[in-house]
Amino acid sequence: MSTLRIEGIPHEHAARLWGGGLDWNGQAPLRRIAEGGANPCRHCLGLIAEGSPKLVFGYRPFEALQPYAETGPVFLHAEPCTRYEGDRLPDWFAFLDPALVRGYGADDWIRYDSARVVRGAEITAACEAILSDPSVAYVHVRSKFNCFQCRVDRG
Ligand SMILES: [Zn+2]
Repeated sequence: MSTLRIEGIPHEHAARLWGGGLDWNGQAPLRRIAEGGANPCRHCLGLIAEGSPKLVFGYRPFEALQPYAETGPVFLHAEPCTRYEGDRLPDWFAFLDPALVRGYGADDWIRYDSARVVRGAEITAACEAILSDPSVAYVHVRSKFNCFQCRVDRG
């Protein structure tokens, strides 16, 4: 039984950047070459291969502007990829060690009592525990740098 639904950022958001659009800061995305092994694409939720081009841009993973709608740096494959949709986190998430896992209410405000800092291997269990609270609408998984990784919903 699947209890989680994990998806990359909406396809229209990625397509906007691939099509030459501006990021959530109103700036053009930067094109860089991926260095090292820690360049997660927020659309396919895969790791961008070292030496491959990536887009670096400011992203706000919320629909509307409000005090809790943080904008921060993320990566995207420079060429179109397929959006991830699944019932489990990709295996590489274990390397987000530690990870920030936060619940948000239906109002898109942080549910402070839900927030946790967990080891990489414990992210899934933390998501399930946070989503067992009916006042939580969804979860964000973020790196220790506070970079948004993905949204997790109930399955
Ligand atoms: Zn990708």
